[in-house]
Amino acid sequence: MKRKIATRKLKRSCKCGKTFKKGDVYYLERIVFAWGFENKHLFSNEHLHCAKCRYRQLEHERRFELFKPKCPHPIVHEVWSYIPGEYVMQPDHDVCQVCGEWIL
Ligand SMILES: [Zn+2]
Ligand SMILES: [Zn+2]
Repeated sequence: MKRKIATRKLKRSCKCGKTFKKGDVYYLERIVFAWGFENKHLFSNEHLHCAKCRYRQLEHERRFELFKPKCPHPIVHEVWSYIPGEYVMQPDHDVCQVCGEWIL
């Protein structure tokens, strides 16, 4: 998730309903879905999060970490996504199939 500062009022809002005006800090999360034979079809979407929701999510993940067994990432899956503004795909990141963590 990338931390960003709105350069203008944003059309999209956080899931909690918070809107972002110029100068507000927001977090951009890129979600990539893959389906079909050999995951050939990809769809990516972007979600905005406000600082409060981002913090809550981190807290939730941190608590989850405490209960989770240590994961050495035995199985990883390469996720591809479009280069912004171009119809070209590039390997974006690896995702652990066990714990779901992004391996950048
Ligand atoms: Zn929010
Ligand atoms: Zn893992």
